[in-house]
Amino acid sequence: MKLLPIFILIYFNSYAQIQKAPVRNEGEGPWPQLIIRGITLINGNGAPPIGPVDIVIEKNRIIAIHNVGSPGVPINNERRPKLKEGGKELNGEGMYALPGFIDMHGHIGGKEQGTPAEYVFKLWMAHGITTIRDPSCGNGLDWVLDQKRKSASDSITAPRIFAYTSFGQGAKHPVTTPKLTIDWVRENAGKGADGIKFFGAPPDIMDAALRENKKLGLRSACHHAQMDVARWNVLNSARAGLTSMEHWYGLPEALFSDKTIQNYPLNYNYANEQHRFEEAGKLWKQAAPPYSDHWNKVMNELLSLGFTIDPTFNIYDANRDLHRARRAEWHEDYTLPSLWKFYEPSRQSHGSYWISWGTEQEVAWKENYRLWMSFINEYKNRGGRVTAGSDNGYIYQTYGFGYIRELELLREAGFHPLEVIRSATLYGAQALGAEKDLGSVEPGKFADLVIIDANPLENLQVLYGTGAISLTADNKMIRSGGVKYTIKNGIVYDAKKLLADVKKMVDDEKKKTGWKLMQPGF
Ligand SMILES: [Zn+2]
Repeated sequence: MKLLPIFILIYFNSYAQIQKAPVRNEGEGPWPQLIIRGITLINGNGAPPIGPVDIVIEKNRIIAIHNVGSPGVPINNERRPKLKEGGKELNGEGMYALPGFIDMHGHIGGKEQGTPAEYVFKLWMAHGITTIRDPSCGNGLDWVLDQKRKSASDSITAPRIFAYTSFGQGAKHPVTTPKLTIDWVRENAGKGADGIKFFGAPPDIMDAALRENKKLGLRSACHHAQMDVARWNVLNSARAGLTSMEHWYGLPEALFSDKTIQNYPLNYNYANEQHRFEEAGKLWKQAAPPYSDHWNKVMNELLSLGFTIDPTFNIYDANRDLHRARRAEWHEDYTLPSLWKFYEPSRQSHGSYWISWGTEQEVAWKENYRLWMSFINEYKNRGGRVTAGSDNGYIYQTYGFGYIRELELLREAGFHPLEVIRSATLYGAQALGAEKDLGSVEPGKFADLVIIDANPLENLQVLYGTGAISLTADNKMIRSGGVKYTIKNGIVYDAKKLLADVKKMVDDEKKKTGWKLMQPGF
């Protein structure tokens, strides 16, 4: 009687889109009290770094932050909080603490990529990502809600999960009328989803869905795909109550001043991804120029609506420099062969549109980025909320690593490194409606922290799992950084150990399949 259900369960798991994460075998704690001693705090709220501080955690919450001295002189022990019985100390001297990172666009892999949840979750946690928003629940809402519950109770090693169901997913009847739309939106909320992810739909459907969802107090995200964007762009969505836009599609369209439809070549076919992505690279140039009246008007209206922009710059990085994205040094050890296979040029895999990609496409995309980044940086300067999302698992951007690349690209757009960290933490929490619990190191919030032994403000690259290279005084190359500890819910995870687990998964699959990342001649 007992064997049968287990057998069915195993069969079901291997048949399901992606393997769920195994029971947690990593991390230490939580403790009745954990004190991180003498660390420099880089908070997510825009404050400059300060240290040395002692951060006091009890179980899974931050209790207090004490200034315990002045830089460069020994710490005054009298100012330090005393360790309670059963408490644990972590020496943070010479290290930096940041709030846990929030990846606002985190797909949990899938069948096409052959990436088990454990692989994705460990890469995220190894990069200090303690919260993710799954924008579409590609493995099914029930699957995601199960992983969400297990992550919340720490029975698996995974970031906290916010589940935004793909609009219409699992509908009994195709969602073709406002009435059916409202029914679906209510059902989605009833199941326990945190929000909805849209890709575009007819205007009356978008309007009904966004308004009902907002009424229920849920959040939303939208990738304004080209098939619907001419009749419903970012401004339409924001007015109807969309809380965040993904990527950038739908924004140039809201900024058109001398046309109403993208200047598609006449042989364009959206299903041909070379067309889709090559022409997208010419889109910002077709929009009103930066600081023009129309550009200002659109930006100011989005600002007045409290709208969040989640640009996911990194996921298009290969478009302006395919070599860089394809040969990034982490692929060798951390990109699972099945994921690499998914990245490879193909007329069928999503995001593998390298049919004919070279200098012309890359130059256009560099210009596209310049115009796009101007908008995003100015949006931030005028008080707008810009968040950090990776959309990883596509286009040579591997989980965790691509998120750190996103931070670098926000920096490139003109953000001060402290503004980058705020986007990666507090702004993400606000966009999720979770700022009471997440997004900064403050008493009362969850004990979610990133600990690293190099200063990420000086070089964001130290946050990559592979660290950053530099030379010592005696001319030896060293690697510094890589997150040291990721703390979630007061549990301390050894980030390097999580990376080692991932490397082993990659090595095992390489051995099993004989796969080499770079096939001879390619
Ligand atoms: Zn996505």
